[in-house]
Amino acid sequence: MKISDHIKNAKGKTLFSFEILPPVKGESVQSIFDAIDPLMEFKPPFIDVTYHREEYVYKKRENGLLEKVSTRKRPGTVGICAAMINKYGVDAVPHIICGGFSKEETENALIDLDFLGIDNVLVLRGDAIKSEARFEPDPNGHSYASELLEQVLDLNAGKYLHEEVSRNETDFCIGIAGYPEKHFEAPSLKSDLKYLKMKVDMGAEYIVTQMFFDNQKYFDFVEKCREIGINVPIIPGLKPITGLKQMNVLPSIFHVDLPDDLVDELDKCADNKSAREVGIEWAIQQSKELKEAGVPCLHYYTMSKSQVTRRIAEALF
Ligand code: FAD
Repeated sequence: MKISDHIKNAKGKTLFSFEILPPVKGESVQSIFDAIDPLMEFKPPFIDVTYHREEYVYKKRENGLLEKVSTRKRPGTVGICAAMINKYGVDAVPHIICGGFSKEETENALIDLDFLGIDNVLVLRGDAIKSEARFEPDPNGHSYASELLEQVLDLNAGKYLHEEVSRNETDFCIGIAGYPEKHFEAPSLKSDLKYLKMKVDMGAEYIVTQMFFDNQKYFDFVEKCREIGINVPIIPGLKPITGLKQMNVLPSIFHVDLPDDLVDELDKCADNKSAREVGIEWAIQQSKELKEAGVPCLHYYTMSKSQVTRRIAEALF
């Protein structure tokens, strides 16, 4: 079922959903089931599956020279979606990205997802390869999520690459990313919102936000979106802090601020265990306020730490 229909059918009740990472190459599918099992009793109508693009590693050869090799640490998105659908009957929402994909490869992936009965995709640009400073599109790929969105919309209209006649129309419900604290490359929030609105006007049906730790940032973001005519559901994405290092790591990777009160509490923690307790409590309070405000869904970035998300869900659902 489409996310837009899940939200409509909920009739104002806040849904629970979460995101998983495909297993690291070589791990079995059981590792994902182990991450999902503890959360199924909270009846997520959908589970997102992230996409992880290639990275470069250097391999030392016998002659002593280093060879640059492209590898993917977490392959298998389509397979994981299939496994989840089979085992749980839940809607899987694969993330699809521009980076590392030609238009043909994207089309082939979308055809596979359609054959699998997937109804939703989260359309993203993706970040730069870890070792590169800036996002570089594939020579025959897309530079922005809006271009990828257009390709999915084309397929929804039966328009395939290099085909003269119309073919099977897919029917993907398309989600996109939103940034309450602005996408880090955008010169201003206004500029970022302009492109967000462009994607909604093109046909994106819902937005999932980047993590944030101060609900006011989400409320302000929603208000600004509504002011410029973005009227689709805006699902807040939440990441519970699970260790002391994350105080610095999360802002540097995700370009988000931590509120002073949260930092003060974390500063008092002597170890990761106590930092995790602070993180869980903070996420519970954030979730409660958002739920009371009537958000359509609370979406958790579990990072495979399902016991933490479980504690939060127990307090909320
Ligand atoms: P875009 O919409 O293309 O925007 C990128 C930047 O360009 C923004 O600054 C925007 O303001 C600007 N912009 C947009 N359109 C135009 C235009 N036409 N002309 C000029 N400027 C423009 N990454 C992954 O690799 N895998 C994942 O699974 C994944 N999941 C995510 C899930 C969520 C909910 C979120 C919030 C992010 C996720 N990301 C993921 C990260 C995401 O790919 C990065 O944040 C990426 O840098 C931007 O993606 P986007 O879709 O917002 O890009």
